[in-house]
Amino acid sequence: MKAVFMYAPGDVRVEDAPDPVLQDPTDAIVRVVRSCICGSDLHPYHSMRPSAEGQTMGHEFVGVVEDTGSEVSVIRKGDFVIAPFAWSDGTCEFCREGLQTSCLHGGFWNNGRGVLGGQAEAVRVPLADGTLVAVPGITEDSPLLPSLLTLSDVYGTGWHAARSAGVREGDSVAVIGDGAVGLMAVLAAKQMGAERIVLMGRHKSRTDLGREYGATDVVAERGEEGIAKVRDLAGGLGVRRVLEAVGHMPAYEQALGVVRDGGTIARVGVPQYGDGQIGWPFFGRNLTLTGGPAPARAYIEPLLPGVLDGSVDPGKVFDRAIGIEETPEGYAAMDDREALKVMIRF
Ligand SMILES: [Zn+2]
Repeated sequence: MKAVFMYAPGDVRVEDAPDPVLQDPTDAIVRVVRSCICGSDLHPYHSMRPSAEGQTMGHEFVGVVEDTGSEVSVIRKGDFVIAPFAWSDGTCEFCREGLQTSCLHGGFWNNGRGVLGGQAEAVRVPLADGTLVAVPGITEDSPLLPSLLTLSDVYGTGWHAARSAGVREGDSVAVIGDGAVGLMAVLAAKQMGAERIVLMGRHKSRTDLGREYGATDVVAERGEEGIAKVRDLAGGLGVRRVLEAVGHMPAYEQALGVVRDGGTIARVGVPQYGDGQIGWPFFGRNLTLTGGPAPARAYIEPLLPGVLDGSVDPGKVFDRAIGIEETPEGYAAMDDREALKVMIRF
């Protein structure tokens, strides 16, 4: 099969790899129908340590189950399935609490221990019954595929930001970052009833989509100027909920700048920094800092009905579709901000 490997910053290759086979009785083999490139894939694209073997890539995919191990009973051969960006057993204490990213037996794709990535023609899925969600009635040419694919990660991650921040009816919310996750955070805040949603971003085509998803205001400025604008829009004191969907220090500082005292910052952008304010300037304001990797698995079932009945269209975040052979160009397009999010068709 064809699979995507990254060898060094900027060095993405499509290569032949052995077809995945069942290893454990709880495995399934999924033939990938749609996959995509994530904003977080750009972190290794910038800074990975060069590796002679390369690393597999991709953690978002939907596809059709080709084979199942002897202990798989819920997922069946032929099912159309959504795979979240972490695999999990669905039965441990954390899974039962809806925190599948902390599953005691689970893990993440591309972990270098025999679980490979979703940017490939097929994937071995561990703990298939806990990990996968089957969606009956979906064909491989369904117009819903892009939106279903967002349930692997970005829609669930945006939802997690809004949910972790405790967005409620009538709230003022600022979303930092106009990437796919930021736009999904806008959609989620809107669905949770936020009244004012300020999207901080400066790519017009993206912020236009953000307005479509429910942003009431767009602030393109950054730094002190951006902070002042958001605070003004929120009546001077700042917003109650901040959804930080970037992950670098300036974005975190922006979050601290726009949040109202007593408010909540939820981070879902993977932090590219290791320290930050925790002393008096933070403590003194009674702020709550929350967020983390979204337990996307927990949100697939609750978010699925809106996708299936067309009341939301999160799939609009995909503005380019390519074949797997063009994946290196897809990374470059996302890195150059020419593409918001690139879908890979098989
Ligand atoms: Zn678990």
